[in-house]
Amino acid sequence: MGAQGQGHTNGKLKIGMYWASSCGGCDISLLEIGPRILDLIKVADVVFWPCVADFKYRDAAGYPDGYMDVCFYNGGVRSTEQEEVARLLRRKSKTLIAYGACAVGGGIPALANLKSRAEIYDVVYHQNPSTDNRGGVVPEPLHEVPQGELELPEFYPAVLRLKDVVPVDYEIPGCPPQADRVWESIQAVVSGAVPPRNAAVRVGCTEKSVCDECPREKRLVKIKAFRRHHQFRPEPGWCLLEQGILCMGPATRSGCGALCLKADMACEGCYGPPPNAEDQGTCMVGALGALLDVSTEDRAREMVAEIADPTGTFYRFSLSSSFMKLGK
Ligand code: SF4
Ligand code: SF4
Repeated sequence: MGAQGQGHTNGKLKIGMYWASSCGGCDISLLEIGPRILDLIKVADVVFWPCVADFKYRDAAGYPDGYMDVCFYNGGVRSTEQEEVARLLRRKSKTLIAYGACAVGGGIPALANLKSRAEIYDVVYHQNPSTDNRGGVVPEPLHEVPQGELELPEFYPAVLRLKDVVPVDYEIPGCPPQADRVWESIQAVVSGAVPPRNAAVRVGCTEKSVCDECPREKRLVKIKAFRRHHQFRPEPGWCLLEQGILCMGPATRSGCGALCLKADMACEGCYGPPPNAEDQGTCMVGALGALLDVSTEDRAREMVAEIADPTGTFYRFSLSSSFMKLGK
C-alpha cells in the first residue's frame, strides 16, 4: 500500500469516522480489516473517530477546511445534531464517504419512518415498561432551568440519508460493509484509483446482484407459496426463493459474496438496490412478478398476503431511498 494518491502534508493521510443514527456495527466493521489496520496506520493518521477515542466536535471544528483526506460517515441523519456534524465534516473533508446501509439508504433505523414522531415518543417514553416517567414528559428542544436555557438536538420526523443533507463523494453499502470490500475501498482511496468525486458513486461492491454471486442452483421453477425458515427445512443447494423463502437476492447489489446464502439464510437486502435501480422494493416486486406461479388475480393477491411485513422485507435497509416517500 502506498500513500501517493492524496494531498498529504506529513506524508500520511488524515482520516476520520463518525457514528450518527446507527448501531455501531459500522465502526466495528472498519476494525474487521484485522491486521491490515497496521498497514493502514503506516499511511494514515486517525484525526477524528469519537467511537474509539476521545475526540470532540471542537477538534474537528478547529481543523482547517479540507484538513481530513477521507471521512467515513456511518448512520442516517435523524437529528439537528447529526445534520450539523454532517455539514461540519463535509467542510473539513476532501472526500466524504457515506459508509454502510444507514448512511446510504436509512438502514434499519429508517423503518421507524413508518411511524410519526408522536407514535415513536409514545412507545419510547410512555409505554416502555422499563421507563419510569410518571410525568409523561417527552424531550423538548428547549427547556428553561434556573441556570438558563437547556438545548437538546431536535428529533427529525424521518431518518434521512447522508446525501439528503450534504454532497457525498462515495457510498459504501452493506450492513455492515464487508471487511474485504472496505479494505479494497481504502486502498483505492489511498492510491487515488477512485472514480470522480461528487457523484455519490457506490464503491466496495460490484456491478452484479447477489443472485449473480449465489452458489445455489436455480431450477427455473415458479414460486408456489411463500414459506418461512421456521416452517420447513429448505433443500440444501437449491435457490431459496424458488422454494418459497423470500430472498432479496434478485433486488440486491452484490459485494458480500452472497454471505448469508452460504450460511443457508436468505438475503435480506443489506447492500441496497442493484446497479441501475434506486428503489429496492419496486425492483423486488418486479422480480416477483415474473417468478410467482399464479394464474388468476385472486391467487396473486393471496400470495402477496402470505408475505409477512412486506414493507419491512422489501425496504429493510433502504426505506429512505423509497420512491414512494413512505413515512416522509
Ligand atoms: S434468490 Fe436468493 S437463493 Fe435464489 S439465487 Fe438469488 S440469492 Fe440465491
Ligand atoms: S447476502 Fe444479502 S443480507 Fe446477507 S450480507 Fe449479502 S447483501 Fe447483506
